[in-house]
Amino acid sequence: MKIKLVGIALALILASCGSDDTSDVVDSPGNNGSANLRNTGASAEELLRGNTFNQLEVELLYVNGIRPEASSIDNLKSFLQQRLNKPSGINFTERNITDDTGAEYTIEEVRNLEDANRTSYTRDNTIAVSVIFVDKPNEKDEGNSVVLGTAYRNTSLVIYQNTVERFSGGVGQPSRVDLETTVYNHEFAHLMGLVNLGTPLQSAHEDANSDNHCNVEGCLMFFEINGGNVLNMMNMTSIPQLDSQCLADLQANGGK
Ligand SMILES: [Zn+2]
Ligand SMILES: [Zn+2]
Repeated sequence: MKIKLVGIALALILASCGSDDTSDVVDSPGNNGSANLRNTGASAEELLRGNTFNQLEVELLYVNGIRPEASSIDNLKSFLQQRLNKPSGINFTERNITDDTGAEYTIEEVRNLEDANRTSYTRDNTIAVSVIFVDKPNEKDEGNSVVLGTAYRNTSLVIYQNTVERFSGGVGQPSRVDLETTVYNHEFAHLMGLVNLGTPLQSAHEDANSDNHCNVEGCLMFFEINGGNVLNMMNMTSIPQLDSQCLADLQANGGK
């Protein structure tokens, strides 16, 4: 029983943190015509520093009524306040949207969903980020190997919220708030340019086996590709934090 749970935990981590098949970082095609259509990580410095954009607006879009625990949103807000220099504030807006297409999502469909529904865009001294919480799984999910979230443009995240709920809150599973917070913070940290994704490395800590992830065990951006179970979420008693090397990268690029 115990071994089975560990197996599930590892599958979750592998999928949520990306591989060739289920990457949680997707570089968008090279459309630089619009401020929100750039590659993942391209706005890292703009998010971290306060000089060009001293304010952040995060638009949370809930598809067909699915939504996170309020505590998880509070935790994400605290994480952003700790890391980003936004002296004029970090504001969240929430809105329900509807979508009836298909039983699962491709990343192209997620992009289309954003294009059809996003209303908050970067302007003046405000940088905007869109987070879509979808109620159907990613097309690449297989068994317990699932995608929990993807950073797919410079200011765009998708969270596979029904999948996050399916793998949390039950017996032998992490609490829902712990798993939600871990996934939201991890994906947002990719927008901040971690690891080596628009925010330059200050030390060699990118995982050689997993682009854009950290090789420090226990770090929020850690990716375990073989064997070990350090980030065993079934035993998760606290939300993973960024380690000192990831923090140093953010600080050198204008973050806190
Ligand atoms: Zn990742
Ligand atoms: Zn790290």
